[in-house]
Amino acid sequence: MTASGLSKTVSVVELADRVRRGETSAVAVAHDTLSRIDQDNGNLNAFLTVTRDELLEQAHAIDEKRARGQALGPLAGVPIALKDALCTRGVRTTCGSKMLASYVPPYDATAVSRLRAADALLPGKTNMDEFAMGSSNETSAFGPARNPHDRERTPGGSSGGSAVAVASGMTPASLGSDTGGSIRQPASFTGAVGVKPTYGRVSRFGLVAFASSLDQIGPFASDVRGAARVLGVIAGADDRDATCLPAPGDDYEGACGKAVRGLRIGVPEEYFGSGLDPEVEGSVRAAIARLESDGVMIKKVHLAHTRHAVATYYVIATAEASSNLARFDGVRYGLRVMGSAAANSKHSQGSALRAMIGATRDAGFGSEVKRRILLGTFVLSAGYYDAYYLKAQKVRTLIRRDFDKAFGEVDAIVCPTYPTPAFRLGEKTSDPLAMYLSDVYTLPASLAGLPAMSVPCAPTKAGLPVGLQIIAPALKETTMFALASAVEGQ
Ligand code: GLN
Repeated sequence: MTASGLSKTVSVVELADRVRRGETSAVAVAHDTLSRIDQDNGNLNAFLTVTRDELLEQAHAIDEKRARGQALGPLAGVPIALKDALCTRGVRTTCGSKMLASYVPPYDATAVSRLRAADALLPGKTNMDEFAMGSSNETSAFGPARNPHDRERTPGGSSGGSAVAVASGMTPASLGSDTGGSIRQPASFTGAVGVKPTYGRVSRFGLVAFASSLDQIGPFASDVRGAARVLGVIAGADDRDATCLPAPGDDYEGACGKAVRGLRIGVPEEYFGSGLDPEVEGSVRAAIARLESDGVMIKKVHLAHTRHAVATYYVIATAEASSNLARFDGVRYGLRVMGSAAANSKHSQGSALRAMIGATRDAGFGSEVKRRILLGTFVLSAGYYDAYYLKAQKVRTLIRRDFDKAFGEVDAIVCPTYPTPAFRLGEKTSDPLAMYLSDVYTLPASLAGLPAMSVPCAPTKAGLPVGLQIIAPALKETTMFALASAVEGQ
């Protein structure tokens, strides 16, 4: 029996309701969470930092608030793990990198302060690929998180730790960030629900930037309604992020369980081609057939430029990353390595500074981050800019237009989240291109700025989770949640 009297798989909504009704206390929930983390984190490496004292303080404050008769927020006493790319005031924020291994931000990301204001509990910071660059958590400077369904397999990435926290029952929800699939793919690998909102739906203020025209914060949760509730809390205008949309969030939770009869969904042929694992295909097609028997109309659609998505993304994302990561210079944030004494004494002050910057970046960044900085610097350099970066921007527009056209005929698009179930740790580390190519199903929605989510459908024979991806028109997250809860209920 746990201290709060709750089973391990309690949902966000059930937990918040029980805390609000006083059936369990936030302090009891906090103790349960810590004991779950103590029990499992050694094996799974989901959390990089556990904020025990802060967690218990928050829990006491919530219980006192209730005792004073004050109304509690929509996430009362719900533990939510935070990807370590989200700045947390006074709490180390590493972004999975040696560069920021001891960086302690002086402020909270907007999404984090909104969780606090909603009375959520924040137990700590989760493991991730370094600077969110990766699909397997293996580029983390702190070792990979492991998949709770099979610890020899990756939980996916880059928000792997946040997916594992939810899938292993350590927390009923978490936040991740998704630039090209980093919420959806780990959700599909671990059997969690994972949501990438419309670009600009959630403020990026306080999210360590990877590729600013693509990055979005979103929730993982143990069920669709829980993800909807968390998104409702973090969505909405923020004047500290110029790309954050001014419209308020929608009633995402109200959309869950809504009738889907009469909705039209598009099934893009380009997402069912070679390289798709037959068991994943079977599971996704079976879920689509059941939606059809619920009265959803199924239509074939074409997203003709899908085959260019990987090349386009890996030009644009690396270009933006090379610029965003220029700030890690040993002066303003985190690590500083002085370089060799010889370099410092023999040269002018200017070259000593360059030696320091070079030594810091060499020691602070891992090889995947370096590869991306090199690629990104190359595609932006004089003589190559037009051929690569500008060309990629044009193809990005074509990819967006494919979706515009498809959404003239259908209300949402349904496809696999990833071509395979979770692969083995080490399986793809020696072949970065293979790792990039497998992002083919998650990248197009990112390039088009569209909301997309992964919801579990039937697992493989070996018991590995499979994710079905739902992509909706911009700001139509409600359609996505209605369909996701229909899939969940199958
Ligand atoms: N796997 C993709 C990459 O490596 C996406 C990462 C992400 O969404 N942060 O860039």
